[in-house]
Amino acid sequence: MTRPGRADLHLHTHCSDGSYEPRELVRRAHDLRFTVIAVTDHDTVAGVDDAVAEGERLSVRVIPGVELSTLDADADTHILGLFVDHRNPALLKLIEHAAAERRQRLRRIAELLQDIGLDISAEDVSNHIEGGTVGRLHMAEALVKHGLASSVSESFLRYLGRNRPAYVAKWSPGPQECCRVIHEAGGVAVLAHPGDVVDEQKVERLVEAGCRAIEAYYPTYSRSLTETYVKLAGRLGVGVSGGSDCHGSRKDRSFLGTVSLPMKYVDDLERRKG
Ligand code: AMP
Ligand code: ZN
Ligand code: FE
Ligand code: FE
Repeated sequence: MTRPGRADLHLHTHCSDGSYEPRELVRRAHDLRFTVIAVTDHDTVAGVDDAVAEGERLSVRVIPGVELSTLDADADTHILGLFVDHRNPALLKLIEHAAAERRQRLRRIAELLQDIGLDISAEDVSNHIEGGTVGRLHMAEALVKHGLASSVSESFLRYLGRNRPAYVAKWSPGPQECCRVIHEAGGVAVLAHPGDVVDEQKVERLVEAGCRAIEAYYPTYSRSLTETYVKLAGRLGVGVSGGSDCHGSRKDRSFLGTVSLPMKYVDDLERRKG
């Protein structure tokens, strides 16, 4: 018999680049009948405590998580840490290092924008949440707010995207280190959104590096692509994860409710942690 329940194991809050506060995210998930969710902000766990507290109030199980950026073959690749102890010192050390690098990068981006005559500074951007993440999306929004670009996508097209004048690469730990720290923190490392085109070598490489599951359920993946990843996970002996990667209204639209991970996979993931 299939276990009742509804799960989404990939969600962002305004502690990184989502638009909902942690408690609001949990309320929205509850309204959509989710019973298990994971909060997985980019390089921060600042939203976990509030989300867990709201989850306890509403009987939604909130799994502490994080989405770490890593470099794989020169490509920005994301690894989710699910079921982590979000107070684990090794995890916090890695996150704090990434945050410091992000702040420094933001200052460099601001300098490059100033060099081409735009009146903006890193202070115009701050993510007001303590321990929150700052990235290019926050700078893009600041440019719009200051009347220096007409939209977020124009900010990327003209200034912040790769090969544009204010592009600065992001420091990232290697995939092995990400996986090691996630497992040391008692979690399970999941290769996030492996790609719209199946690249088996990439997936194998990242499983080799320590990923114990693949995110096969994702809003932009067709049923057959999901099925392909589920089969690949089976062949590689790893678990299956999935989620909507909801950023609220901050990106195109809210994908919350468009992905439900079958509960058998949630249970299996939990057995792979630590
Ligand atoms: P960062 O991690 O600081 O490099 O920022 C990455 C963020 O910028 C992610 O949320 C991306 O989805 C977003 N992003 C990248 N390129 C674009 C684009 N062309 N338009 C809008 N958002 C983008
Ligand atoms: Zn994001
Ligand atoms: Fe991601
Ligand atoms: Fe994400």
